[in-house]
Order: sequence, then C-alpha cells, then structure tokens
Amino acid sequence: MSPPDSLPVVETFHSLQGEGHHCGRSAFFIRLAGCKVGCTWCDTKHSWPLENHPRRNIDALAQEAVEAARNGAAFTVITGGEPLHHDLSRLTDVLAEHGNETHLETSGVDRLSGSPDWITLSPKRHCPPRRELLQRCDELKVIVHELDDLSFAEEMASQTSPGTVLLLQPGWQSEDGQRLSIEHVRCQRRWKLGLQTHKWLGLR
Ligand code: SF4
Repeated sequence: MSPPDSLPVVETFHSLQGEGHHCGRSAFFIRLAGCKVGCTWCDTKHSWPLENHPRRNIDALAQEAVEAARNGAAFTVITGGEPLHHDLSRLTDVLAEHGNETHLETSGVDRLSGSPDWITLSPKRHCPPRRELLQRCDELKVIVHELDDLSFAEEMASQTSPGTVLLLQPGWQSEDGQRLSIEHVRCQRRWKLGLQTHKWLGLR
C-alpha cells in the first residue's frame, strides 16, 4: 500500500523546541492527531481522537515547513499524538526533498516509518517501545513521577546504542519527579536532566 498523501493534523506552529537535546532551538512543529497509548499525565489529550482533526495534504504541510525555515526554523518536529500510528514515509521524504531536517517524537510502540534525521524516544512503562526504536533512537527521554520510573529508565537505556543521549524529565510539576531525577542524574554521569522549558516560559 502506498503511503497516504494526507495526514490528520491537530496544529502546526513555529516556536522554540522546549525540551530535550535540541531545547531552545527554533523549530516548526507538525502535531499529528491520534494516540492509543493513553498516558494518564498526557498534556495533549485533545490530540487523541482522530475524527476531531482534519486531514491535511502533505505537500501543503511541507510548504509551511519551508516558509518556517525561511523565517528561522532550524528543523521540523513531527509530534503528536503518536506520529508513528501513521505511515510517515511520504511526509519525511517530502520534507527532505525541500531540505528540511526532520525530528520525530515518539513513544516507540509502532514500527518506524519514514526516515527522520533525529528520533526522540519517550518510552512508557505501561506500553513499552519496540526494540528497534530503542536501538535506533538518538535521544531517550524518560518521564519521571516515581521511583519505579528510574529502574524503567535504566532498563530502557541498557537497550539503546552507545551514542544515545539519555534524559530524565520530571513530570510537569511533580515534586517527587524533580527530586528523583536530580538525584539520579547527580549520581549517574550518562544521564542529563531535561525540563519542559516551554511550559515554564508559557510558550506553545
Ligand atoms: S504517547 Fe504521548 S500523546 Fe500519547 S498519551 Fe502518551 S504522552 Fe499523550
């Protein structure tokens, strides 16, 4: 089956990447609709139902990304929702044809499609990622709310490649998450602390 020429889109916007290894850089975001992973702490629950969001033509999305790049965006972030619920081949191909660097944010529960330049994998304890995504990801970002999240983080990290960037990110306004993350990073040199700076700054 050939990849679709449209995808369900919640929103597009040009802002700063607020979290992860590329935090603080200018980026164009494409937020795709649909997610069946069901994290209780999810801050984009409005993205879950596919039927609430229109399908948009991929060429038109790429044109928006080109315009954002002209205005300073260093790369395009494909986020969600869970983007890999969809076949991303055509989207990443078209973005690449336009010279756009693409970053994918995923929970890793589906097979990888497309050819993103950077993969941020944020694995979930209740719905673990596929092994191929763990081995392929450039950045592993584990959300921390409680002690068991740290052992899960180490279990996930043990399956990544040697160059993968490891980030512990406290759940939003989780005091336990902050304390546990800071203490773990202080004692484990391979890990870095990640923060959702866009939320602290009130950015999109
Ligand atoms: S995978 Fe992402 S979009 Fe889906 S429920 Fe979890 S946090 Fe929300």
